[in-house]
Amino acid sequence: MSKIQTPNPVRGTQDIYGEMEERFAHVVATFEKIRRLYAFKGLHIPVIEPTAVFARSLGETTDVVSKEMYSFEDRGGDSITLRPEFTAGIARAFLTNGWQQYAPMKLATHGPLFRYERPQKGRYRQFHQIDAEIIGASEPAADVELLVMADQLLQELGIADGVTLNLNTLGDTQSRDKWHSALVEYFGDHRDVLSEDSQRRLETNPLRILDSKDPDDRGISYAAPRIDDYLSSEAQDFFAAVTAGLDAAGVVWERNAQLVRGLDYYRHTAFEFITDRLGAQGTVLGGGRYDGLIEQLGGKPTAAVGWAAGIERLAMLVGAPVLAGPDAVVIPLGDAAESAATGIIAGLRRAGIACDMAYKGNMKKRMTKADDSGAAYAIIIGDNELAAGKAAVKNLANGEQTEIALNKLPEFLARA
Ligand code: ATP
Ligand code: MG
Repeated sequence: MSKIQTPNPVRGTQDIYGEMEERFAHVVATFEKIRRLYAFKGLHIPVIEPTAVFARSLGETTDVVSKEMYSFEDRGGDSITLRPEFTAGIARAFLTNGWQQYAPMKLATHGPLFRYERPQKGRYRQFHQIDAEIIGASEPAADVELLVMADQLLQELGIADGVTLNLNTLGDTQSRDKWHSALVEYFGDHRDVLSEDSQRRLETNPLRILDSKDPDDRGISYAAPRIDDYLSSEAQDFFAAVTAGLDAAGVVWERNAQLVRGLDYYRHTAFEFITDRLGAQGTVLGGGRYDGLIEQLGGKPTAAVGWAAGIERLAMLVGAPVLAGPDAVVIPLGDAAESAATGIIAGLRRAGIACDMAYKGNMKKRMTKADDSGAAYAIIIGDNELAAGKAAVKNLANGEQTEIALNKLPEFLARA
């Protein structure tokens, strides 16, 4: 039989293990803690959704819908898409389950997302996000709550230094439409110097030109009409209430009048937490208000606001967490000890003591395993100890060894 060649992983995917997995788990655990502090309910939604959920809500001309979605026809002939973001799926769940009666709803989730992008540092085809949304609240207090929550998350992760909150308003629909026309006119006059991509954006999604990374586009964008000249007084008041709330909560922010979000459905508040420590992939957390989305999915007009953050990017920023070893490693020596150890370790685990067993190799190998595991104690059980109903317990930090009765082990280790 010819040897089978191991298939390569899919481009842009990664196996997350070891220290990076610890960082991931730390980010998610911190998020879970914060979302409870802010009284957000947990939620899990499907990884697969009908393609229409994203195509309708994100806007046909956005990068995500036009070139990044993993869509396929399933065996029943339905068009299915692997979720490229959470917001549209959560909005769909809100409508499917008739949650209007509970509005405003504060929801939080996390998990994998899929986008067909060019893989590079901090950019993958399968990546992970934490996500928080408030659905059914048109008050600026909701925007403020989400921003203060995001800020506290970054503080608790210890990465707030060097991460800046960039804040903008896109105005209400009326303000945004006027600004849109002004931008089309302005960029139309400078069409020749725009990048090819931005010439295309001029037809499809002119706001996105402001978001372009191309140096020529940036030069032109610099003097483009600003949203401030088109804001209705309601939109001005809304933005003032958001910034006043942030100031009251002591959250530092910067105005970035060039900031637009990639997706079509944003209104009013738009924001990104940006760092220069991740090269080109500097946005760690982004979001804003999307009052029009639920209606586009067939629901009644429902105001909503939310954010998402890439777990990979957050995990790259957090310092290496201390790898916590088990409380103890059990080292049986001899056949009798080995079978007795099975019962002893089961008892320890049931008592809530994290332990591992070293059952391979000679005594030296087993001790090395215990040392390398980061455990606090090695519990050595030989035939002599067993006969005496005891174990030799070695403190791996200082090398001290004591004899402890087997039935006193849980108590000893719990105190240690
Ligand atoms: P970018 O401008 O980096 O493409 P985006 O605007 O497409 O970001 P969002 O849709 O707002 O990103 O997603 C929120 C966050 O999710 C981003 O700030 C980033 O941290 C993360 N993210 C987005 N796309 C990827 C990806 N392909 N790989 C890893 N993380 C990602
Ligand atoms: Mg993107």
